[in-house]
Amino acid sequence: MLRVGHRAGRDPRLTTHLALTARAFGAERMLLHPPDPDLATRVAAVGARWGGHFEVVGAPDWKRAVREFDGTVAHLTMYGLPLERVRPELRRARRLLIVVGGAKVPPDLYRLSTHNVAVGHQPHSEVAALAITLTTILGVPGPAALPGARQRVVPRRRGKRVVETRERP
Ligand code: SAM
Repeated sequence: MLRVGHRAGRDPRLTTHLALTARAFGAERMLLHPPDPDLATRVAAVGARWGGHFEVVGAPDWKRAVREFDGTVAHLTMYGLPLERVRPELRRARRLLIVVGGAKVPPDLYRLSTHNVAVGHQPHSEVAALAITLTTILGVPGPAALPGARQRVVPRRRGKRVVETRERP
């Protein structure tokens, strides 16, 4: 996925949540415009504990990232076509770049994207839009630990239990 319009120092928590959501719901990487190496390091630390291969990569030129992407580009915007309508094409895509904006969205993004996709036509959040789009394409994430995880959650009705990945529940 590509996050456009990150404001380093102003909304680190929101973009961090976006990265963690992308990771947990099955995305491979986040391209981040403008780049924020501190955020990338924090997200990498989560991956070191909880596994997977997700990475945050700086994208100094977002237009170039979109133009050079070899696949389908789905820009999430409340003004686009309904997700339900575009879903078959997104599921068929060999490679998919999901793009979300920030407080302001550059107008060129609408033109450069293969699809402009709405998750409902009310304003809400890039985190919600991303989570619902990934779930619609990939399904709800299962309980299995990601490859290389040092620890995993043992699901419980109450309380919290986390074990080393080699430990039995
Ligand atoms: N005012 C901005 C605009 O011009 O579209 C929207 C800002 S919104 C807080 C940030 C991002 O959340 C948007 O760029 C979009 O990616 C996502 N988003 C918010 N509502 C959405 C919706 N209903 N459908 C799809 N994406 C949405």
